[in-house]
Amino acid sequence: MTRKISFLSLFAATSCLPLAAVAQAPRVTAPARPKLVVVIVIDQFRNEYLTRYAPFFGDGGFKWLMRNGANLSNAHYTYGTTYTGPGHALILSGSYGHTNGIIGNRWYNRATNRAESMFFDPNAKLLGVEAVPKDDDTSPRNFIGSNLSDQLLLSNNFKSKAIGVSLKDRAAIMLAGKLGKAYWYHEKAGGIISSSYYMTDLPAWVRQFNALKIPDSYFGKTWTKLLPEAAYSISRADDTPNELTTEVTGRTFPHLLTDKAGKPTATYYEGFTATPFATGYQLQLAQLAIENEQLGADEYPDILGISITPTDIAGHAFGPDSHEVQDIIVRLDGQLANFFSYLNRRFRNNEVVIAMTSDHGACPLPEYMQSLGIEAGRIKKKQISDAMEAAITARFGASNPDTKWVTTLEDPGVFLNQSLIAERKLDAAEVQRVAGEAAMKVKGMAAYYTRAQFLSGQLPPNRWASFFEKSFYPERSGDVLLQTKPFYFWGSWGERDEGSTHGSPYEYDTHVPLILAGRGIRPGNYATAADITDLAPTLAAVLGINAPAGNEGRTLHEILTTDERR
Ligand SMILES: [Zn+2]
Repeated sequence: MTRKISFLSLFAATSCLPLAAVAQAPRVTAPARPKLVVVIVIDQFRNEYLTRYAPFFGDGGFKWLMRNGANLSNAHYTYGTTYTGPGHALILSGSYGHTNGIIGNRWYNRATNRAESMFFDPNAKLLGVEAVPKDDDTSPRNFIGSNLSDQLLLSNNFKSKAIGVSLKDRAAIMLAGKLGKAYWYHEKAGGIISSSYYMTDLPAWVRQFNALKIPDSYFGKTWTKLLPEAAYSISRADDTPNELTTEVTGRTFPHLLTDKAGKPTATYYEGFTATPFATGYQLQLAQLAIENEQLGADEYPDILGISITPTDIAGHAFGPDSHEVQDIIVRLDGQLANFFSYLNRRFRNNEVVIAMTSDHGACPLPEYMQSLGIEAGRIKKKQISDAMEAAITARFGASNPDTKWVTTLEDPGVFLNQSLIAERKLDAAEVQRVAGEAAMKVKGMAAYYTRAQFLSGQLPPNRWASFFEKSFYPERSGDVLLQTKPFYFWGSWGERDEGSTHGSPYEYDTHVPLILAGRGIRPGNYATAADITDLAPTLAAVLGINAPAGNEGRTLHEILTTDERR
């Protein structure tokens, strides 16, 4: 159980002053701080979902948080690559990729000549799974600077604790920071793992949790709709063309959770993450972390970051506006209500701060938009590279027989063959420009920005160029960054003809919830513009610690009570 010690009694116990003197010496010491900061990131969650699904929410979940917290209803990302990795890297650091180096979920590593996951670290091994992590995220090594978890641990010589949990590696890693501890799910384990970067072995409580085999217990179960059928009429038809038919859940309700092997395999364990059962599983893990790591139990504040994954997995497969996303979110509301009431039982009023946001929104299914007469589409990588290859060849001559001008594409970046450009003594800026112009002939492309423009500060003076500037880090970014028109995308989901994605600078991807509640926060609705980078410095103010090193955000002083505004 938590030890419940009031700040005054603690002071009296350790002070040599009589109590009366303490009472007469206000504000000499730091004001009481929260004991626990819980940061909830819902992966792929547009701000509009809070309105759209409100008729189906109970009183204890999202509505409880909005009623008791500061709801910043006009909070946005202001960059060009709204993906999970960069989003989570930003949420607790207050910095964009141009500062923290996390410019995408993957990029081409010119030193190893291969595209690598953002947090791939050859020196870190996964714990709790037999897997060769050639394409896994294994440590926060590539993140540059510090985040809020790091700053909190640095502020008191690691008396605080910082833990990140998620079904996704990169999400858990970036909530824990460089100095905290991250736990995530791996489909090859069907359970929770970590990395040798953080520890030598999984703690007993995680191994015990895994032994429960909770994902297995849903094998053969059916995911049915929570609400009466009529409630789903605010979503498009359940059986919409171009939704993804997954091996584990199929395409339409009712979703029988199965695996053609007849028993759970890695395919099943991966499919499980697209269901609402997986959100409950994650919140169980979060609760166990609080209890077993004694989070919020002493006078040193702790941080628990929870990134909820199934909203994103189902959002990709079935698309936003689907019955599945509606059902997961309405169920999540009830699951959060249980989690909040658990926090309320375990902690006293004002001992906890809860912050909620998302890493990005989502683009509608392009084919659905087309069916409504709205221009939308998927762009194939080959269309882009063929157009560029042809244009560069026409202008500068053929590449060598064993190479190409375009090395690889990792959206939004195109990586050109820099060594061939140097070998031929070409003007790199001009090659980039020719490549960018060629991409503009591909249907659905809107603009391009070149390495030379970023480095010389000669970007076009518009909003979108400034968004992409925040996503450019010279050692890691491509030579040309491409911006699509709204409702178009390319990359892994552009290569398929099913499912949808995110990653653009447009409203459907950038406008996400930002809600803070608890100790030091003044409840209310705030419609002033906020950037998601504002979250980290605001929480730093509540905790009375330095904001993260690369912070670019603003402390949202208007939502702080006078005590915290010192
Ligand atoms: Zn996603």
